[in-house]
Amino acid sequence: MARSNKTVRDYIRTIPDFPHEGIMFRDVTTLFADPRGFRIAIDQLLHPYAGTDIDRIVGLEARGFILGGAIAHQLSVGFVPIRKKGKLPGKTLSQDYTLEYGEATMEIHDDAIQPGEKVLVVDDLLATGGTAEAGIKLLEKLGAEIVGCAFVIDLPDLGGRAKLEAMGVDIHALCA
Ligand code: AMP
Repeated sequence: MARSNKTVRDYIRTIPDFPHEGIMFRDVTTLFADPRGFRIAIDQLLHPYAGTDIDRIVGLEARGFILGGAIAHQLSVGFVPIRKKGKLPGKTLSQDYTLEYGEATMEIHDDAIQPGEKVLVVDDLLATGGTAEAGIKLLEKLGAEIVGCAFVIDLPDLGGRAKLEAMGVDIHALCA
């Protein structure tokens, strides 16, 4: 059987003007739906952390759950969700952040991480960095040690990479 030369980027489709005019939406459902695409994305997200001590994977709602669940399974570690406000049933910590239009809030269960635990944060895409920054602040409040943040796509022109690097966070992304 012929081996595919497709890269992770080749499995992602861009849909113009979704959810608003002017936004080029990077649709990773086509990556997730392809068995080879999904496999190489998970392998490449994990690659730089081979041999690194990681206690938990933290996924950012919602596509970070799909990636993070697969990574946690691969590493045989637990998975912790950071969710939009009002979705988690237990006692939570909250962090507000700025969206393109308005404000939003991310939450984590206040007992989800123990102080000193080493966590890898996962999401599909880094744009302005507001979502990841809110997640990192929640993890820092719980005393987590952030090993890094792994994304499938980084859009550096939107400032997220610079924002997270200024917080001292190590970023790994597969494509732009
Ligand atoms: P930000 O907080 O601006 O870094 O935005 C990152 C979050 O919004 C991620 O959870 C992404 O899934 C989503 N997102 C932002 N921009 C896009 C885009 N152009 N295509 C797909 N998802 C996006």
